[in-house]
Amino acid sequence: MRLEANEKGFFGEFGGAYVPEMLYPNVRELQDRYVEITGEAAFQRELNELLRDFAGRPTPLFAGRRLSALFGCEILLKREDLLHTGAHKINNTIGQILLAKRLGKTRIIAETGAGQHGVATATVCALMGMPCVVYMGEVDMQRQALNVGRMRMLGAEVRGVSSGSKTLKDATNEAMRDWIANPHDTHYIIGSVVGPHPFPDMVARFQSVISREIKEQCHVLGGRQPTHVIACVGGGSNAMGGFFHFVEDEKVALIGVEAAGCGISSGRSAATTALGQPGILHGSRTLFMQSEDGQVEEAHSISAGLDYPGIGPQHAHLHTTGRVQYVSVTDDESLEGAKLLARQEGIIPALETAHAVAYLSKMRFSGSERVVVVVSGRGDKDMGTYLERLGEGISR
Ligand SMILES: *Cc1c(COP(=O)(O)O)cnc(C)c1O
Repeated sequence: MRLEANEKGFFGEFGGAYVPEMLYPNVRELQDRYVEITGEAAFQRELNELLRDFAGRPTPLFAGRRLSALFGCEILLKREDLLHTGAHKINNTIGQILLAKRLGKTRIIAETGAGQHGVATATVCALMGMPCVVYMGEVDMQRQALNVGRMRMLGAEVRGVSSGSKTLKDATNEAMRDWIANPHDTHYIIGSVVGPHPFPDMVARFQSVISREIKEQCHVLGGRQPTHVIACVGGGSNAMGGFFHFVEDEKVALIGVEAAGCGISSGRSAATTALGQPGILHGSRTLFMQSEDGQVEEAHSISAGLDYPGIGPQHAHLHTTGRVQYVSVTDDESLEGAKLLARQEGIIPALETAHAVAYLSKMRFSGSERVVVVVSGRGDKDMGTYLERLGEGISR
């Protein structure tokens, strides 16, 4: 199958741009210009230079020998954790700030939950000398104090949001309000393949560098393309990036791993494909967890980056068509996944990534598989949780 947005930004029945009328001009300007601008040779040159010299691309595709021996197949690790700021999110923020500059924007806003996207945004704003306002729920600011500190050190203004549950969705509302009030000079950097068209398509294109490199690197590593690509799914940007250039090649099995939290039927999870219904969330038609009357339900995951009640419209479409298999891993299983990667390969992953790793233990291999796992980020930010939750287990 092909994964292309139609001119209204739909992937099958999912996508589109459901925004208040006051946002039409901003969204329309992006829709009209993102393909043309990002396709320009000068844009691509500047993007690729920054991805190389600032972010640290290409990232290695590392053959995990001990994990391969353990599972009895070939396991390759795509090392997005080695990027500047510690995760794949920088691929997107670099792309969007270059786009914002070419649109003549002079101010950047973003919203953040765990703070990772806020840090990646504050980083590129410092790089480009642009003022940056990051909206963040006050509860999240307390939980993620270190990232608040990083954003401030980078010169960003972190605006605490005290409405509603004081978390990500409230921060998103505030960012939208800001954008409506400042339509001419401000670009809103969305951090995943979510939001109104063109964000899902645009962010997927910026993250697609992940699968472009995987293809090239597999070519060098003996020539065989992967049989499987596995990635965790919050909103779905690292997974979209890892899947992008393989979607049309039906021989490659694509697996998205969601957070089951305390268990799919526990009432405390973020397993959107298992529990979600179609509806409009954050400006696009997609799948999300909702109550009977269509209200967004709170998601839960041990990992702040997967703690999102929806998925992007491409994923909703890939799920509905069956091209990608969506599975889930619980909080406890993800902790085992983190320990596994740390002990077998000397890599402490982010909790989000640990979900993708943990799914390997649920698969059966015959020996001929070549499995790529997208290591979306590093685990420094999660050491507090690892120490607390693994406790004794960490010394064994
Ligand atoms: C934010 C984050 C995720 C989840 O976001 P996606 O858009 O689903 O990729 C996954 N891994 C890490 C390390 C993150 O920081």
